Amino acid sequence: MNSDEIVSPDNKNAGQSMLRIVGYARESTREQAEDGFNLDEQERRIKEYVNLYYDDANINFSMIREEGASAKSLQRPRMKEIIIQIQKGEIDIIIIHNLDRLTRNLNDMQTLLQLFSDYNVELVSLKESIDTNTAQGRFFVSTIVLIAQWEEETIGDRTVRGKKESARQGNYAKSRVPFGYYRDPNDKRHLLIDEEKAKIVRRIFQSLADRTHTPYTIAKELRKENVYERQWKDSGIEHIIKNRIYYGTFAWYGEEFDNHQPAIVSKELWEAANKNAYSKEFHRHNYLFKGLVYCEKCSQICEQKSTTKPSGSEYQYYVCPNCGAYINEKKILSSIVIDLNNLVKNHHLYLEVRSLKIKEQRIRGEMNTLINGYVRQRISKDYYLEMMNINACERKALLARIKNAESHIRKMTFMTIDDEERERLKEKYIDKISIDFEEKTALLKGSETYERIIKYV
Ligand SMILES: [Zn+2]
Repeated sequence: MNSDEIVSPDNKNAGQSMLRIVGYARESTREQAEDGFNLDEQERRIKEYVNLYYDDANINFSMIREEGASAKSLQRPRMKEIIIQIQKGEIDIIIIHNLDRLTRNLNDMQTLLQLFSDYNVELVSLKESIDTNTAQGRFFVSTIVLIAQWEEETIGDRTVRGKKESARQGNYAKSRVPFGYYRDPNDKRHLLIDEEKAKIVRRIFQSLADRTHTPYTIAKELRKENVYERQWKDSGIEHIIKNRIYYGTFAWYGEEFDNHQPAIVSKELWEAANKNAYSKEFHRHNYLFKGLVYCEKCSQICEQKSTTKPSGSEYQYYVCPNCGAYINEKKILSSIVIDLNNLVKNHHLYLEVRSLKIKEQRIRGEMNTLINGYVRQRISKDYYLEMMNINACERKALLARIKNAESHIRKMTFMTIDDEERERLKEKYIDKISIDFEEKTALLKGSETYERIIKYV
């Protein structure tokens, strides 16, 4: 038996009455040059915090410093020690300067949060006020880690250089193998063609190059045929056709390496498919509400028909195959356009503004905590001023971003967003548009709860 695991009753009692706090500071080799991140500074702030908030007599505090270790994985000597200590139930509280000291990888962060929760370890981060005991707190952590991860990917110059070098040597450096390929079992750095899947890839490129399909309709067709039991979507199709690897070129961090992997399509076919998939002309003939318009009375999907007037202008109609009633596309559009515009705006508000507002709220909360702490003389004036200043700057920048985003979103409409996005939003939010030709109403049914009847003229 490992002697570490023997806990004598005396020690156990002592352990229970004392709060066991561990401060963890980490710096990578790259960060050593940067200000504010060095180990001494992190340790100083953690100690200051412990002095402020805990009673010396009741705690057992130790500091763990990790030097020259990157946050990309948890395979760091001292981090491993901490994990073992937690699993032995030896830690009550972990204090860090900011979250990315622990990890910059979302999966690792989730692993750690689970571990903390399993062993009742409280996590305190000085920079981000978080409470990992609530779902909202864990959500904040995920958001912050995502941003850190993104920053790491963008500024990790050295890593990029390494990856480029590896690509230059013919190594397929991405972790995900593109559809239509598999890794060479004898040489994992190379891709081989999966002939069955390659047929689908060629079909996608060919049908777009021939203009028999759009990304949206080919996705629908593949879904219908249940090809490889995948939930084919237009965004997935676009992902495929944008990938240059299909004509053998590996594009990696802004550089292109020709003849890198075996080609599934020719460069000419690749270019034709990409040109057509995004050409305005191609999309003009698309019916805006294809597959979405129903005849309310007959419960039938309406078919698309178009007529060209002597003036040369084209009119697009939806016709019920059962009763023959029809409606002009423009009429549908004008009756539901306000709803569609709101849908676009709400989507963007949710996507772009909501997370900013949550952050702003959090900063305000933090400032209130600081004010309280200062008024009650729990924190020093210097610390108060420094932290207030940091928070005020961050908040000001956030408010400006929110204002910017909101004014940009206010101008968006369903018809001015680009074609790809319009297709995606339709797919995401609109289930059907049911037309009652007698009452002259359109029933707009959206995903889950959304439903509205609109009179058209
Ligand atoms: Zn009908």
